[in-house]
Amino acid sequence: MAGAEVIGKEEIKEVMDVLETGVLFRYGFDKERKGIFKVREFEEAFAKYCGAEYALGVTSGSAALKVALIAMDIGLGDEVIVPAFTFVATYEAILEVGAIPVMADVDGSLNLDPDDIEAKITPYTKAVIPVHMCGAPARIDKIVEVAKKNKLLVLEDNAQGCGGSYKGKKLGTFGDMGIFSFDYVKTITTGEGGMVVTDNVDFYNRADWYHDHGHDHNPEVSRAMEGRSILGFNYRMGELQGALGLAQLRKLDDVVIAGQKKNKAKIKEALGRIDGVKFREIPDPEGDTATFLGFNLPEAEITKKFQKALSAEGIDTVLFKENLWHYVPNWEHFLSQSTPNSKKYPFTNPMYKGKVDYSTAAIPKAEDIFGRTLFMQIFVNMPEEKMTSIIGGIEKAAMAI
Ligand SMILES: *Cc1c(COP(=O)(O)O)cnc(C)c1O
Repeated sequence: MAGAEVIGKEEIKEVMDVLETGVLFRYGFDKERKGIFKVREFEEAFAKYCGAEYALGVTSGSAALKVALIAMDIGLGDEVIVPAFTFVATYEAILEVGAIPVMADVDGSLNLDPDDIEAKITPYTKAVIPVHMCGAPARIDKIVEVAKKNKLLVLEDNAQGCGGSYKGKKLGTFGDMGIFSFDYVKTITTGEGGMVVTDNVDFYNRADWYHDHGHDHNPEVSRAMEGRSILGFNYRMGELQGALGLAQLRKLDDVVIAGQKKNKAKIKEALGRIDGVKFREIPDPEGDTATFLGFNLPEAEITKKFQKALSAEGIDTVLFKENLWHYVPNWEHFLSQSTPNSKKYPFTNPMYKGKVDYSTAAIPKAEDIFGRTLFMQIFVNMPEEKMTSIIGGIEKAAMAI
């Protein structure tokens, strides 16, 4: 829950600034808005925080993925390599722009395996989308290296790793573009919202135009007189979201991530005392946002038994091999190509010359490791009593395995 747990007077103040002017739109109304530009201010603060040249606020993380793919001109006939473990939005965004997702395996980080990228490249591959799942980095330096060598673009889906880093550099800034989500359950929240970041001015401009019907946002003229060179759509962030984002961003490091790290360390210590428990590999533990704790056992059977025993103690865990929304082999609607049009486009698009394979044989590591890995959600607010009860529960459940 992260940022949603710490909504308070700072968020109220920022939102009230907007409501006092009544200007909910991010562009124009220069006289009425009294110098208040919350989305613009949030973008500037976010770019600075990440160490990116440009940031563009949008309506959601899903929209951010689509806007970024369009900005990089990925579409009809193209393939994009994506890990088998991600939220369905990553695959949906690729299909939304008319491209085809190609499923790749994970490594011990449970994120995209850089060593599997070359095996998945075809003459149609245009880009790779590594996803920093459950708050922790992929081996992003290696992924970028392999992508560069093969002349592929990199779009980092950092919807779940806002504030995370790898060797001191913020996640989302390694690729050609990066995206973030601020939906209600993400590390910081604006209710619904997302961000696109990049250092590439051409990609930024195309994203900026596309997300607002092509508007070139020329500051010299009124909105009605602005020019355009491409058609676009509407994925604009609103001022109330920008206001929330500003307050949440100020809490990201010291309140949210610091709080989660402290709580995660305590639970990790308790689990570490159990024979056979191993933790998810985190390529740079410093850069973990600690939204989740991932751990595994030697076999699937014992893992399920442990999950059941934890559940009996009131401790919830997720076994992603059984989760319906984050593991490709469980997406029956995707596997049957049930896109939101009766023609199964873009799978049936004649411009697409490839042949894609989503069988589990393509992801042997994921098939093994997700059957014996459990994830526990870490909260910012885990008071002493709750922590004591969780640790007691873990110790009791351990006796059942
Ligand atoms: C949440 C999420 C998204 C989509 O973000 P929304 O803001 O909910 O649209 C995309 N990718 C991943 C990995 C996510 O977890």
